[in-house]
Amino acid sequence: MLMYCKKCGRVYMGNNDDTETCDICKSKMYPVPKQYLDLEEEDEDIKYDFFGDDMEDKFIEECVKTSPEFDQELFDKRPYIQKKRSQEYNRMLNAHEAIRAGADPKLAFKNGGQNLPKCPACGSLNVKKIGSVERVASVGFFGLFSKKINKSFECKNCGYTW
Ligand SMILES: [Zn+2]
Ligand SMILES: [Zn+2]
Repeated sequence: MLMYCKKCGRVYMGNNDDTETCDICKSKMYPVPKQYLDLEEEDEDIKYDFFGDDMEDKFIEECVKTSPEFDQELFDKRPYIQKKRSQEYNRMLNAHEAIRAGADPKLAFKNGGQNLPKCPACGSLNVKKIGSVERVASVGFFGLFSKKINKSFECKNCGYTW
C-alpha cells in the first residue's frame, strides 16, 4: 500500500500498520488517501498502487503541506538526503564487489570501491601494497638487484610487481 510521511512528504510502498516508519525522518507512515489514487482491483483485493494523473502534486499540497507535523525544511532537504543515501548505498555495493574481487577491504570501503590499485598485467584487484619494511628486507636479501625495489604493489593473482 502506498504510504506517506506527514513530516517530510516521503511516499513509498509499505505496510499499512504501526510498524512502518519513514526511512528519512523515522516518523510514522500513513496510507495515502484513496481519492488520490488510481484504484486497481484484483479479485477481492484493491491495490492502490498509483497516483492518478496530476494527483501527486495535489496530494502534496492538500495532504502533506497541511499536516501539523509537516516540516518544510525537511521536505526541501529530502531529495538531497535521498540522493546521498543512494550514493552511500552504491558506494557500499561497489566496495563489496571490489572486496569479492580480492581488493583490500579497508581501502575498498574508504574509496567506495573506486580507484583501487589494480594489477596492470592481469587486471586483478587482489593486489598487496609492498610495505617499506618488506622493501628494506628485499634490499637486504637480494641486494640491489631486487625486483621489488621502487615497486609499491604486488599482484596476489599473477605475482606481477609495479
Ligand atoms: Zn519522513
Ligand atoms: Zn596480476
